[in-house]
Amino acid sequence: MKYYILFGPPGAGKGTQAALLVEKYNLHHVSTGDLLRKEIKAGTPLGLQAKEIIAKGDLVPDAIVEGMIKNEIVSNQDVKGFLFDGFPRTVAQAEALDKMLAELNTGIDSIISIAISDEVVHQRIHHRAMIENRADDANDETIRTRIANYHEKTEPLIAFYKAQNKYFEFEGEGTIEEIFGRISKHIEK
Ligand code: ADP
Repeated sequence: MKYYILFGPPGAGKGTQAALLVEKYNLHHVSTGDLLRKEIKAGTPLGLQAKEIIAKGDLVPDAIVEGMIKNEIVSNQDVKGFLFDGFPRTVAQAEALDKMLAELNTGIDSIISIAISDEVVHQRIHHRAMIENRADDANDETIRTRIANYHEKTEPLIAFYKAQNKYFEFEGEGTIEEIFGRISKHIEK
Protein backbone atom coordinates (compact mmCIF):
# COMPACT_ATOMS: atom_id res chain seq x y z
CA MET A 1 0.00 0.00 0.00
CA LYS A 2 1.34 3.41 -1.00
CA TYR A 3 0.56 6.61 0.88
CA TYR A 4 1.12 9.89 -0.92
CA ILE A 5 0.37 13.43 0.15
CA LEU A 6 -0.44 16.08 -2.44
CA PHE A 7 0.73 19.37 -1.01
CA GLY A 8 0.60 23.03 -2.04
CA PRO A 9 -1.15 26.36 -1.49
CA PRO A 10 -4.86 26.79 -2.27
CA GLY A 11 -5.22 26.99 -6.02
CA ALA A 12 -2.00 25.11 -6.76
CA GLY A 13 -3.90 22.63 -8.89
CA LYS A 14 -3.99 19.80 -6.38
CA GLY A 15 -7.52 18.74 -7.32
CA THR A 16 -6.70 18.68 -11.04
CA GLN A 17 -3.53 16.64 -10.58
CA ALA A 18 -5.22 14.37 -8.02
CA ALA A 19 -7.90 13.34 -10.52
CA LEU A 20 -5.21 12.36 -13.06
CA LEU A 21 -3.02 10.57 -10.50
CA VAL A 22 -5.74 8.44 -8.91
CA GLU A 23 -6.86 7.31 -12.37
CA LYS A 24 -3.39 6.40 -13.62
CA TYR A 25 -2.08 4.76 -10.44
CA ASN A 26 -5.27 3.30 -9.00
CA LEU A 27 -5.19 5.32 -5.80
CA HIS A 28 -7.99 6.27 -3.44
CA HIS A 29 -8.36 10.07 -3.45
CA VAL A 30 -8.99 11.59 -0.04
CA SER A 31 -9.67 15.34 -0.21
CA THR A 32 -10.60 16.79 3.17
CA GLY A 33 -12.04 19.84 1.37
CA ASP A 34 -14.35 17.57 -0.67
CA LEU A 35 -15.30 15.53 2.41
CA LEU A 36 -16.14 18.71 4.32
CA ARG A 37 -18.18 20.13 1.43
CA LYS A 38 -20.11 16.84 1.35
CA GLU A 39 -20.94 17.22 5.05
CA ILE A 40 -22.05 20.81 4.43
CA LYS A 41 -24.28 19.77 1.55
CA ALA A 42 -25.85 17.01 3.65
CA GLY A 43 -26.47 19.50 6.45
CA THR A 44 -24.91 17.31 9.15
CA PRO A 45 -23.94 18.85 12.53
CA LEU A 46 -20.30 18.58 11.46
CA GLY A 47 -21.18 20.30 8.18
CA LEU A 48 -22.92 23.15 9.94
CA GLN A 49 -19.88 23.71 12.15
CA ALA A 50 -17.46 23.48 9.21
CA LYS A 51 -19.48 25.83 6.99
CA GLU A 52 -18.86 28.94 9.10
CA ILE A 53 -15.17 28.17 9.53
CA ILE A 54 -14.57 27.52 5.83
CA ALA A 55 -16.46 30.65 4.80
CA LYS A 56 -14.00 32.70 6.86
CA GLY A 57 -10.99 30.93 5.35
CA ASP A 58 -9.97 29.39 8.65
CA LEU A 59 -8.98 25.80 9.33
CA VAL A 60 -11.44 23.27 10.66
CA PRO A 61 -10.27 21.80 14.03
CA ASP A 62 -7.61 19.08 13.71
CA ALA A 63 -9.69 16.46 15.55
CA ILE A 64 -12.50 16.72 12.98
CA VAL A 65 -10.35 16.19 9.90
CA GLU A 66 -8.23 13.53 11.64
CA GLY A 67 -11.41 11.55 12.35
CA MET A 68 -12.50 11.80 8.71
CA ILE A 69 -9.08 10.60 7.52
CA LYS A 70 -8.97 7.66 9.91
CA ASN A 71 -12.37 6.59 8.66
CA GLU A 72 -11.23 6.77 5.01
CA ILE A 73 -8.08 4.74 5.71
CA VAL A 74 -9.74 1.91 7.63
CA SER A 75 -12.69 1.59 5.27
CA ASN A 76 -10.62 1.45 2.04
CA GLN A 77 -7.91 -1.12 2.66
CA ASP A 78 -8.60 -2.83 -0.69
CA VAL A 79 -6.95 -0.13 -2.85
CA LYS A 80 -3.38 0.17 -4.25
CA GLY A 81 -2.73 3.29 -2.28
CA PHE A 82 -3.98 6.62 -0.99
CA LEU A 83 -3.57 10.14 -2.25
CA PHE A 84 -4.26 12.66 0.50
CA ASP A 85 -5.18 16.08 -0.83
CA GLY A 86 -5.55 19.07 1.51
CA PHE A 87 -4.43 16.95 4.45
CA PRO A 88 -2.35 17.29 6.56
CA ARG A 89 -2.57 21.05 6.84
CA THR A 90 -0.94 21.48 10.27
CA VAL A 91 2.03 19.83 11.97
CA ALA A 92 -0.38 18.34 14.53
CA GLN A 93 -2.34 16.68 11.70
CA ALA A 94 0.91 15.33 10.21
CA GLU A 95 1.87 13.83 13.56
CA ALA A 96 -1.58 12.27 13.91
CA LEU A 97 -1.28 10.79 10.41
CA ASP A 98 2.16 9.31 11.18
CA LYS A 99 0.66 7.72 14.28
CA MET A 100 -2.34 6.29 12.41
CA LEU A 101 -0.08 4.76 9.76
CA ALA A 102 2.41 3.46 12.35
CA GLU A 103 -0.47 1.55 13.92
CA LEU A 104 -0.92 -0.14 10.52
CA ASN A 105 2.86 -0.82 10.44
CA THR A 106 3.32 1.54 7.54
CA GLY A 107 4.11 5.19 6.76
CA ILE A 108 3.99 7.97 4.18
CA ASP A 109 5.90 7.27 0.96
CA SER A 110 6.28 10.82 -0.28
CA ILE A 111 4.98 14.36 -0.25
CA ILE A 112 4.28 15.66 -3.72
CA SER A 113 4.43 19.41 -3.43
CA ILE A 114 3.13 21.72 -6.18
CA ALA A 115 4.80 25.12 -5.92
CA ILE A 116 3.23 28.36 -7.20
CA SER A 117 3.57 32.01 -6.18
CA ASP A 118 1.00 33.90 -4.06
CA GLU A 119 0.18 36.00 -7.12
CA VAL A 120 -0.79 32.94 -9.14
CA VAL A 121 -2.75 31.63 -6.13
CA HIS A 122 -4.91 34.78 -6.22
CA GLN A 123 -5.47 34.61 -9.98
CA ARG A 124 -6.38 30.92 -9.95
CA ILE A 125 -8.80 31.20 -7.04
CA HIS A 126 -10.59 34.12 -8.69
CA HIS A 127 -10.83 32.14 -11.89
CA ARG A 128 -12.15 29.05 -10.04
CA ALA A 129 -14.76 31.14 -8.25
CA MET A 130 -16.40 31.89 -11.59
CA ILE A 131 -16.53 28.20 -12.55
CA GLU A 132 -17.21 26.25 -9.36
CA ASN A 133 -19.36 28.62 -7.36
CA ARG A 134 -17.46 28.08 -4.11
CA ALA A 135 -18.33 30.70 -1.50
CA ASP A 136 -14.80 30.62 -0.07
CA ASP A 137 -13.34 31.46 -3.50
CA ALA A 138 -15.43 34.52 -4.19
CA ASN A 139 -14.39 36.73 -1.29
CA ASP A 140 -11.03 38.56 -1.26
CA GLU A 141 -10.85 38.68 2.52
CA THR A 142 -11.38 34.91 2.72
CA ILE A 143 -8.73 34.26 0.08
CA ARG A 144 -6.24 36.43 1.99
CA THR A 145 -6.99 34.54 5.22
CA ARG A 146 -6.48 31.21 3.48
CA ILE A 147 -3.14 32.28 2.06
CA ALA A 148 -2.06 33.63 5.47
CA ASN A 149 -3.12 30.38 7.15
CA TYR A 150 -1.23 28.44 4.53
CA HIS A 151 2.01 30.30 5.25
CA GLU A 152 1.58 30.24 9.00
CA LYS A 153 0.16 26.78 9.70
CA THR A 154 0.70 24.61 6.64
CA GLU A 155 4.10 25.67 5.30
CA PRO A 156 5.91 24.37 8.44
CA LEU A 157 5.06 20.91 7.10
CA ILE A 158 7.76 21.39 4.46
CA ALA A 159 10.48 21.26 7.13
CA PHE A 160 8.64 18.45 8.93
CA TYR A 161 8.72 16.19 5.86
CA LYS A 162 12.14 17.35 4.66
CA ALA A 163 13.48 16.07 7.99
CA GLN A 164 12.00 12.67 7.04
CA ASN A 165 13.50 12.91 3.51
CA LYS A 166 10.04 12.57 2.02
CA TYR A 167 9.51 16.02 0.51
CA PHE A 168 9.54 16.41 -3.29
CA GLU A 169 8.71 19.73 -4.94
CA PHE A 170 7.40 20.26 -8.47
CA GLU A 171 7.05 23.48 -10.42
CA GLY A 172 3.30 24.20 -10.56
CA GLU A 173 3.28 26.66 -13.45
CA GLY A 174 2.94 25.18 -16.91
CA THR A 175 0.32 23.06 -18.63
CA ILE A 176 -1.67 20.42 -16.72
CA GLU A 177 0.09 17.73 -18.79
CA GLU A 178 3.56 19.14 -18.09
CA ILE A 179 2.97 19.12 -14.34
CA PHE A 180 1.40 15.67 -14.46
CA GLY A 181 4.43 14.43 -16.38
CA ARG A 182 6.80 15.74 -13.70
CA ILE A 183 4.85 14.07 -10.91
CA SER A 184 4.37 10.79 -12.80
CA LYS A 185 8.12 10.50 -13.31
CA HIS A 186 8.60 10.75 -9.55
CA ILE A 187 5.95 8.14 -8.74
CA GLU A 188 7.39 5.68 -11.22
CA LYS A 189 10.93 6.04 -9.86
P1 ADP B 1 -8.11 24.76 -1.31
O1 ADP B 1 -7.62 23.85 -2.37
O2 ADP B 1 -8.59 26.06 -1.84
O3 ADP B 1 -7.18 24.91 -0.17
P2 ADP B 1 -9.80 22.76 -0.01
O4 ADP B 1 -10.94 22.22 -0.78
O5 ADP B 1 -8.61 21.87 0.17
O6 ADP B 1 -9.43 24.12 -0.72
O7 ADP B 1 -10.28 23.23 1.44
C1 ADP B 1 -11.32 24.15 1.62
C2 ADP B 1 -11.43 24.55 3.09
O8 ADP B 1 -11.74 23.38 3.89
C3 ADP B 1 -10.15 25.09 3.72
O9 ADP B 1 -9.97 26.47 3.48
C4 ADP B 1 -10.37 24.77 5.20
O10 ADP B 1 -11.24 25.70 5.80
C5 ADP B 1 -11.08 23.43 5.16
N1 ADP B 1 -10.12 22.31 5.24
C6 ADP B 1 -9.82 21.44 4.24
N2 ADP B 1 -8.89 20.54 4.65
C7 ADP B 1 -8.58 20.85 5.93
C8 ADP B 1 -7.68 20.33 6.90
N3 ADP B 1 -6.87 19.28 6.63
N4 ADP B 1 -7.64 20.92 8.13
C9 ADP B 1 -8.42 21.94 8.42
N5 ADP B 1 -9.28 22.51 7.56
C10 ADP B 1 -9.38 21.98 6.32
